[in-house]
Amino acid sequence: MFKDSQDMKTNLSELGEFGLIDHLTKSFEPKLSTTVKAIGDDAAVLNFEDKQTIVTTDLLVEGVHFDLAYMPLKHLGYKAVMVNASDVYAMNAKATQITVSIAVSNRFPVEALEELYAGIELAAKLYNIDVVGGDTTSSTSGLLISVTALGIAEKEDVVYRSGAKPNDLLVVTGDLGAAYMGLQVLEREKQVFKANPNAQPDLDQYSYLIERQLKPEARKDIPPLLKELDVKPTSMIDISDGLSSEIIHLCKSSKVGANLFEEKIPLDPAVISVCEEFEIDSTTIALSGGEDYELLFTISQKDYDKIKGNPHLTVIGHMTEEGEGMHLITRANQKLPLIARGWNSMDDIEGEEA
Ligand code: ADP
Ligand code: MG
Repeated sequence: MFKDSQDMKTNLSELGEFGLIDHLTKSFEPKLSTTVKAIGDDAAVLNFEDKQTIVTTDLLVEGVHFDLAYMPLKHLGYKAVMVNASDVYAMNAKATQITVSIAVSNRFPVEALEELYAGIELAAKLYNIDVVGGDTTSSTSGLLISVTALGIAEKEDVVYRSGAKPNDLLVVTGDLGAAYMGLQVLEREKQVFKANPNAQPDLDQYSYLIERQLKPEARKDIPPLLKELDVKPTSMIDISDGLSSEIIHLCKSSKVGANLFEEKIPLDPAVISVCEEFEIDSTTIALSGGEDYELLFTISQKDYDKIKGNPHLTVIGHMTEEGEGMHLITRANQKLPLIARGWNSMDDIEGEEA
């Protein structure tokens, strides 16, 4: 995990806007041949030649998307890059450049922004992404961070949400629900800390869950893996809001239905045990938890042998005709309508149709 360094305090006004930009970005050296001009001019210049260009953007707002009480700034910077890179990978593309825009209030010292940028820099380095620009402005209250990611892909490799066909297999990468349960653990610790600031939390047994919440990793490895396996998904999406809601997105875009098998949903043992502790149903968490940044895709049945047994990939269901609807087949072989439900209504099993 990252360390926090909150001892030093340099007021933002000591550097001024340009001094601050320079200070935060001086170590960003572009590495990719597609980056012609990065930070330092009125705009960046990129050269993707005959490739298709992928663009995606996300805005993270303090108090809405993150809580600095338990989200160290370095993690926030890292996560802001991951959230965007994940959307590029979900197009079966390679993430290449990002721009980073921030709005900050005076309550943040320069050192806090250094932490934020250390996370951004680490993510960019590990994911082979160039930081090519951004904008910096002040905010009267909290912190806002907006990242735009660019990526490239050959035209024939791009995968949309809309190409799934009936009988295609539904596949998910990694495991689900850990990020959400990590947040539950952190929220609980925050309450304990409020009641007793001297309490020393022992979070060792939750380290996987907390890491999945605070330091998620986007699936950079999946587009090249699929290429290596000679599989082009028929549709793909990243899991930011929970499995249910992403399956519904794929089905609606592709005009198909789906059957998801509860017993196939990949769960880490740490998720199963923390769900028992919190007395929450682990399937519900996988379906509605969100922030896993795994990829969900469909493949033609003829490609099944190519992915069979791959430790990164799990077949969790199949697509059906649109008229058959979207269902969860439970372990007890019950067929329940798949719904995109908010966390608060999770114990309402019937729920409303999304
Ligand atoms: P402009 O006046 O054209 O908005 P700026 O002075 O804001 O230019 O930015 C100067 C350069 O620094 C540009 O290349 C811009 O993309 C980059 N930049 C500004 N803010 C950031 C930031 N927060 N992170 C990364 N690059 C930034
Ligand atoms: Mg500017």
